[in-house]
Amino acid sequence: MTKCDCCSNPFKWGEILKKNFIYGPITCRNCNCVHKIDVPSRFLTTLFSVVPFLLFGMILSPFHNIFFTIVVALLIFVSGMLVTPFVVNYKLVSK
Ligand SMILES: [Zn+2]
Repeated sequence: MTKCDCCSNPFKWGEILKKNFIYGPITCRNCNCVHKIDVPSRFLTTLFSVVPFLLFGMILSPFHNIFFTIVVALLIFVSGMLVTPFVVNYKLVSK
């Protein structure tokens, strides 16, 4: 899990997850240093969420029902997003 570059305070899973959806900056609760997601991590976030979502939705779906396909694809997207806080890295932008 990524942590603050100033004070090594680890960010919370839920905190990172929320920011991963919008690629927003994280402000450390401890020292107010501002961190932003780095470019490889944006790529990873896409790889874990949007890519499986599209792959399933467009190619891999065993269902002939479009509604069911979308629901399962969304579940895959959300599960992918739940993993991203463990793999992304945030870097310091300002103190
Ligand atoms: Zn800090």
